[in-house]
Amino acid sequence: METRGWEKCSFLVGQIVCDCSLASLFWDLYSICNEPTATVAEVVVGDEIRLSFRLCFSSPMMCRWLELCRLLGPISLSCCMDKPVWSLAACGQYSAKTFYRRVNDGGVRMPHLAAIWKIQIPGQVQVFLWLLAQNRLLTRENLAKRRNMSDQTCLFCLEIETNHHLFFDCW
Ligand SMILES: [Zn+2]
Repeated sequence: METRGWEKCSFLVGQIVCDCSLASLFWDLYSICNEPTATVAEVVVGDEIRLSFRLCFSSPMMCRWLELCRLLGPISLSCCMDKPVWSLAACGQYSAKTFYRRVNDGGVRMPHLAAIWKIQIPGQVQVFLWLLAQNRLLTRENLAKRRNMSDQTCLFCLEIETNHHLFFDCW
């Protein structure tokens, strides 16, 4: 699927950066712009953004302009036709496998989890640390999720027995 190219897309009104237009993000700049409907191809020339405004910039407006430039900084705009890129796959092509993987793990990963398996410690300790990191140790709080437990308090004090309590809070 190909979408329209930059020569037809409005720089300020079109959705070129995020889910909303630059006009809605930078309404103050849009309202004084001389070319509010100029296309991307007309505005972006090389690395420059060529827009003119009816008023001179005040200091806060200059900050807003710099904010807009900073937002566009990492984005390379060109006159080529747009092509959708599936960011979950290295090749950029959609696959049900990558989509399924994202849906199932929720997109949140603990960065230190993989490091547990690289530490030179006994396997039982690795498994214990992995269970701790996943909050799957059989603390009373976790046992109560599986079966009816009337008493979830710690054996050493009167707090609820959680992973965090056992390893950081309990005396
Ligand atoms: Zn305790």
